Amino acid sequence: MSETCVLSVIVPVYNEEESLPHLCPRLLKTLDGMHRPYEIIFVNDGSRDASLKMLLDFHKANPGKVRVIDFNGNFGQHMAIMAGFDHSRGDVIVTLDADLQNPPEEIPNLVAKIDEGHDVVGTIRQNRQDPKFRKMASRMVNSITNKITGLRLNDYGCMLRAYRRDIVNIINQSCESTTFIPALAQKFAVNPVEIPVGHTEREHGTSKYSIFRLIRLNFDLMTGFSLFPLQAVTMIGIVVSALSFVFAIYLMLRRIIVGPEAEGVFTLLNINFFLMGITMSCVGITGEYIGRIYQEVRKRPRYVIRREWNDA
Ligand code: UDP
Ligand code: MG
Repeated sequence: MSETCVLSVIVPVYNEEESLPHLCPRLLKTLDGMHRPYEIIFVNDGSRDASLKMLLDFHKANPGKVRVIDFNGNFGQHMAIMAGFDHSRGDVIVTLDADLQNPPEEIPNLVAKIDEGHDVVGTIRQNRQDPKFRKMASRMVNSITNKITGLRLNDYGCMLRAYRRDIVNIINQSCESTTFIPALAQKFAVNPVEIPVGHTEREHGTSKYSIFRLIRLNFDLMTGFSLFPLQAVTMIGIVVSALSFVFAIYLMLRRIIVGPEAEGVFTLLNINFFLMGITMSCVGITGEYIGRIYQEVRKRPRYVIRREWNDA
């Protein structure tokens, strides 16, 4: 990659009025210091605070460097990045959260790895500063996801990442409406690498992910990249049926040899509840797939852009 290749930095923004005044100057300083042409694409994902106004001021103050895409509602972080990908013109594309949990000063390190010939540069958060339960949940999700999807990633959650143009082109072609960008990129990458990056606590504003949104996102990851949960459901069904068959034979023989029994009502109830639980979760897992299939077949637009502000 030459010094003249263009860099696109995509930042999804959802109610980040507290962070933006800190983010913008740091981002500009870092990118100016890299001495290559760049564009910053802010995607306003339906913020209800002063974020859009701040972004437009920033766009006016930095002609030719800052572009703004304004969504017509909240479509989620991954769709915001998708829109950024679609509109980006760079040869190298970097994604960054607006909350400064990952320092923008790391961008040159990521781009250096692309220059070395890697097509996707992932990141592993060092000394991750998030609530304990989020860190534990995320460790669990990372290892389960690797096993289920067959992908190899140490940290799915960190969105400070760099991609080469050809990878972003492939992502743009796969018009998925429920997806998980780091996993998608990893699937298409030929020579990916992961590097450690700093991570700090969110100093301004609060996390935009509630526990339910996080769970939904993780189901997107699971269902989007593997059919293993469906196969597991089938296997559980087969094993339970086989066990029930053996148990039925045992009960029949017992009735013939020892005689009828009327005890053990609560044991029976307990077994029943256990099996009902398994059945409900199996229906649920199947439903997670069906719901997403339904979303895809309706072919509604993945996101709606209200307005764009490009080069001044
Ligand atoms: N974000 C977004 N749309 C959403 C939720 C989040 O564009 O519906 C943006 C948010 O503004 C931030 C990034 O995605 O730039 C990551 O969000 P957050 O820091 O809240 O996630 P966390 O770090 O808690 O996982
Ligand atoms: Mg964050």
